[in-house]
Amino acid sequence: MTLTNRLTLFFLATQVMVLAAFSVTLYVLARGHLYDQLDARLSTTMDTLVALAEIEPDGLDWEPELRRLPAHWEGDPPVWAIYDETGNRIDGSHSPVNTLAEFASPGPPPVRETHRVEWGGSDWRVAKQTLVFPDPGAIRSRPGRERHRTLVFVTAWPVAPVQGELRTLAWGLAVLSAGVWLLSGLAARWVCRRALSPVSRMTEAARRISADALGDRLPVPAARDELRDLAGSFNDLLARLQDAFERQRRFTGEASHQLRTPLTAMLGQMEVALRRDRDPDEYRRALTTAVAQAGRLRQIVESLLFLARADADAELPGLEVIDLAAWAGEYLAGHPHDRTADVRLAVSPDGVLVKAQPAMLAQVVGNLIDNACKYSDPGTPVVVSVGVEGGVAVLAVEDAGHGIGPDEVGRIFEPFFRSPEARRRGVGGVGLGLAVAARIVRSFGGQIDVRSEPGRGSRFAVRLPHRAEPEQRVASIGR
Ligand code: ADP
Repeated sequence: MTLTNRLTLFFLATQVMVLAAFSVTLYVLARGHLYDQLDARLSTTMDTLVALAEIEPDGLDWEPELRRLPAHWEGDPPVWAIYDETGNRIDGSHSPVNTLAEFASPGPPPVRETHRVEWGGSDWRVAKQTLVFPDPGAIRSRPGRERHRTLVFVTAWPVAPVQGELRTLAWGLAVLSAGVWLLSGLAARWVCRRALSPVSRMTEAARRISADALGDRLPVPAARDELRDLAGSFNDLLARLQDAFERQRRFTGEASHQLRTPLTAMLGQMEVALRRDRDPDEYRRALTTAVAQAGRLRQIVESLLFLARADADAELPGLEVIDLAAWAGEYLAGHPHDRTADVRLAVSPDGVLVKAQPAMLAQVVGNLIDNACKYSDPGTPVVVSVGVEGGVAVLAVEDAGHGIGPDEVGRIFEPFFRSPEARRRGVGGVGLGLAVAARIVRSFGGQIDVRSEPGRGSRFAVRLPHRAEPEQRVASIGR
């Protein structure tokens, strides 16, 4: 079931309950009021009749011809009758309903009884009151002046008009409620559809998006609401995915290219060597070249495998606390370079303790020094410095070389990225060194950053958490 239908149904169900509660309450209140009114009319009629009887010294007197009944009874007269103690009807209304006789027997004075009876298929409300003369011995009737010991007053009002009004009210409420319910149901459906229409449009757009069309985006609704946020977040996600896909595509292309180059060189060497019989020296030369190319191939594959591991898997075991200053001195002493004369060490006098794996740290620093030498002219200084900046241990390699353009600085840690300048100058390299270095430093819990100015040089800084207290000092390298 669609969300629109569910919301509409929920709204209709709530509306039914509200309308039903409202109608029932109104009906019950109106019913009570109408029946109260009927009882009030019954009571007034009875009061009027009782007030018209006279209590004379010689008995109760009721003279019909002398009694003038209220004028308002004429339009809507009640049914009434008066009986004496023997049940004789003394007087009464000229109503077709003349069954009041069943109430003629005297009741206990002065209680006013009310009954509900059914005559001729319709309901009536009946009131009865008995008036008794207190001294039976004093009753004297004379011709023309009848005196009574007991007068029984009975009056009845039909319930039918009240029931008619209630029926009209019930129908009115039912029709009105149904109308309101139907209209509000249609309105609710329209509102739901309108409110959810952006979702339908987004769904349509999302269906069209595939790995080949990651540039497509969801339509963003104009109203500043949750759906706009959803579309915005989803579009951001798509942008990130597109970026990741692009990088992966570039990575795969570059990886294939970098793997193909040494393979082609290896195959070429071997084919040339096999073309004719050669002396052992020539075979040795061909094999040496093939071994060098295979070594390069293995290095690339190992770097790729390292980079392909998830961050959690790339965490290195066997981290040790080392004094970075002492370690850097020993590293430079143990790793002579073509440009050793240009490489200088500037260490802080205090020990700088970090937690790292010496062999991997050696790979990082070796790569940074190699790059500094590759991308600067011989004779210019390459400074390796160790110190503490803002509570963080820093090992920096600074050169006075070509520098890196502002457009490239953000991409040099991407696998296989090589600046056009490096390619143009024909500097050897694959473009994996910095990506692997950044990954290694991350696995030590640190980070690597670069500050560079084209034409003036670059400073690569490895920042590692600085440990205040030594746990175990190791100052060895290349393990
Ligand atoms: P490679 O040196 O094998 O190309 P890296 O990952 O070590 O790969 O470096 C990536 C790119 O970063 C290099 O191609 C070069 O353009 C740039 N780069 C790295 N170090 C420096 C540096 N010290 N000076 C200028 N450019 C540098």
